[in-house]
Amino acid sequence: MHWHCASGLQAGALTANRAQIMEYISTRGSAPALTFEGATLAGLACDGGLYVPVEWPRFSEAEIAAMAGLPYAELAAKVMQPFVGDCLTPERLLELTTQAYGRFDHKAVTPLVQFDEQHWLLELFHGPTLAFKDVALQLLGPLFEEFLSRSDRNLTIVGATSGDTGSAAIDAVANRDKVNIFMLHPKGRVSEVQRRQMTTVLAPNVHNIAIDGSFDDAQAMVKRMFNDAAMTDRFSIGAVNSINWARLMAQVVYYFASAVQLGAPHRQIAFSVPTGNFGDVFAGYVASKMGLPVARLLVATNVNDILHRALTSGDYSAGTVTQTAAPSMDIQVSSNFERLLFDLGGRNGAAQAEQMAGFEKTRAMRLTNAQTQGASALFTSVRADSDDMSQAMHWAWKNCGELIDPHTACGVHAARSAGIDPSIPVVTLATAHPAKFNDPVERATGNRPMLPARVGDLFERQERYDELPGDYAAVTDYVARHATPRA
Ligand SMILES: *Cc1c(COP(=O)(O)O)cnc(C)c1O
Repeated sequence: MHWHCASGLQAGALTANRAQIMEYISTRGSAPALTFEGATLAGLACDGGLYVPVEWPRFSEAEIAAMAGLPYAELAAKVMQPFVGDCLTPERLLELTTQAYGRFDHKAVTPLVQFDEQHWLLELFHGPTLAFKDVALQLLGPLFEEFLSRSDRNLTIVGATSGDTGSAAIDAVANRDKVNIFMLHPKGRVSEVQRRQMTTVLAPNVHNIAIDGSFDDAQAMVKRMFNDAAMTDRFSIGAVNSINWARLMAQVVYYFASAVQLGAPHRQIAFSVPTGNFGDVFAGYVASKMGLPVARLLVATNVNDILHRALTSGDYSAGTVTQTAAPSMDIQVSSNFERLLFDLGGRNGAAQAEQMAGFEKTRAMRLTNAQTQGASALFTSVRADSDDMSQAMHWAWKNCGELIDPHTACGVHAARSAGIDPSIPVVTLATAHPAKFNDPVERATGNRPMLPARVGDLFERQERYDELPGDYAAVTDYVARHATPRA
């Protein structure tokens, strides 16, 4: 794919050119630097890269110690402020986090549950659509509205979902001013709960599209649209998947929240993270760069194990997607891995662009020595097959009385088999509510998890969505007919 940056993008209020604000640069080196506001609205950089902060802000030990006991919304504002720079005042940021996290069903927002002496579960699924993606997207919705209200822009959000991003994004932006959302899901490859959580939102700015093909096919079409001048000239296209920096930023918060509860900064903590697009676990890497004492990050994959192969042998080569009971991890190309490779490779945009161009041509690349060594200093990968997932669900239920979903099961499998020193607490991120995937949970445990009351009538609600062939022209034609052109 050939990427180009329109020269008009070099100027304008959202281009970062003042010294006191946090700048965002592209991993591929040739897109203009942007402010937080610019990076949030842009999503993907115009050179095909991903935005990252120009440097990692760092908290001192005393600052981390002072985070203990803060309400979640306050902690979130504190952790995110250095990334936001002067795009929001601290007071306004706190209002937005209070609004976002007030919609969660648990007062602690992301409660920590103890399995046994060493193992903990961080429940990230108490948001409106029952998966961890709510933690970031409930904030992204108000951020979009805030930034769009400052201009006469409107935003056309185009996204692809393997299940959970779609519903969380739709909930976050439904009925918001100046935003239209087009969400592609692979037809028949998301669970019924996942599909209904998207298609039963009947707001006029929400457009659900079922595509013939896999998640990777849908994601490739979305990426292509970002670089299609015929579309980007007419529409201001934005992203809600984890290529959007603001999402990763919001996910850094719960690493701090849980680690501080378990004794950080005076104690090291390990995390086990069910991984697909490498967004969630990259947020853990950011937390460690910011000074959190992270002993290890376990990259838990299912049999779609490109990351496991990359981290164990330096071979990042995409195979074909295998469907599993953890569909949100049925991914071969992990977009956010590029952010890690860029950081570990010495932040050389030209070299990163070349490495990614090679990958886009052949669907395979080798990591450099610096990238392999840098990754192994913090990351360990563990792959779970379907037996491992069932056994982990069974173990959590029989030994701890906890029902966990198949994605979380990959994390628990990794946490229990990675050989982490017993003195180090291991926190597994529980990425989805078990009721979202009740069939495999019931098969493994003999127990069918109940949907929480807030979504109880999901199966009675009316659905609305359109079906399209896995054909780029059909999708762009659909978007062009329903979206609002740039002002
Ligand atoms: C999205 C998702 C994942 C994978 O997260 P990434 O940030 O893409 O690595 C894991 N589990 C669930 C339930 C998800 O929805």
